[in-house]
Amino acid sequence: MNQLEKIAKKVQSCTNCKLCETRTNAVPGKGNFDADVIFVGEAPGRNEDAHGEPFVGAAGKRLDSILENTGINREDVYITNIVKCRPPKNRIPSKDEEVACSNFINQEIDIINPKIICVMGNTAYGTLLGGKEITKNHGKIIEKDGKKFFVTFHPAATIYNQKLIDELKKDFKKLADLLENENRLKQFEDRQCDYCMVRTKHEVIVMPKVVTRKRRWLFKCTECNHERWLQPYRTVAESLY
Ligand code: URA
Repeated sequence: MNQLEKIAKKVQSCTNCKLCETRTNAVPGKGNFDADVIFVGEAPGRNEDAHGEPFVGAAGKRLDSILENTGINREDVYITNIVKCRPPKNRIPSKDEEVACSNFINQEIDIINPKIICVMGNTAYGTLLGGKEITKNHGKIIEKDGKKFFVTFHPAATIYNQKLIDELKKDFKKLADLLENENRLKQFEDRQCDYCMVRTKHEVIVMPKVVTRKRRWLFKCTECNHERWLQPYRTVAESLY
């Protein structure tokens, strides 16, 4: 049994708060243990409580469709909630319930150690980052304790709101770009030839098309063809000295 399976077992038999008295099933996180990204929602709803799996009801369908639209496979990510048992009538979890469950989410994050933690909705935003106004802060990366968090709406909030669907889609596109960028940086770190350790701009090729389209620059090592995405050129030059 791996570490996450051990946590799932503990979640299933947890009696740390009163929600254990009203649940049908506790709902541990589920997904790829080696995920680059963890999606964190609020708490299970009726369907999740019935099946013991996160995001399998209406909010889950919305999440699936946005993931598909973005080109992210559900099998490649890990999905979990702040609180692992359904609050009666789907009410917002209380602070006590969040605290009683906090060990689980913290351990899931530590074990998976993803590149980005995607915080969906106000409960996850409040618990993990102490944040409040998601409408003002969605689409942003927030760094805390050496971890990167990406803030967005809860998929359930978009079910009857076309404007929010569009915003959520835009956020997910941004998230996919950020993940791609993280992976490119990782590749660069993993494979450094001497030429990658450039000291002047003459040693790299800049792809100008990308500069105008995405306001990021793609640098390509002329020796090993290694590529690296970065922001303005000056930052690159400085970071490579
Ligand atoms: N809403 C959540 O926050 N989590 C679920 O698992 C389902 C709905």
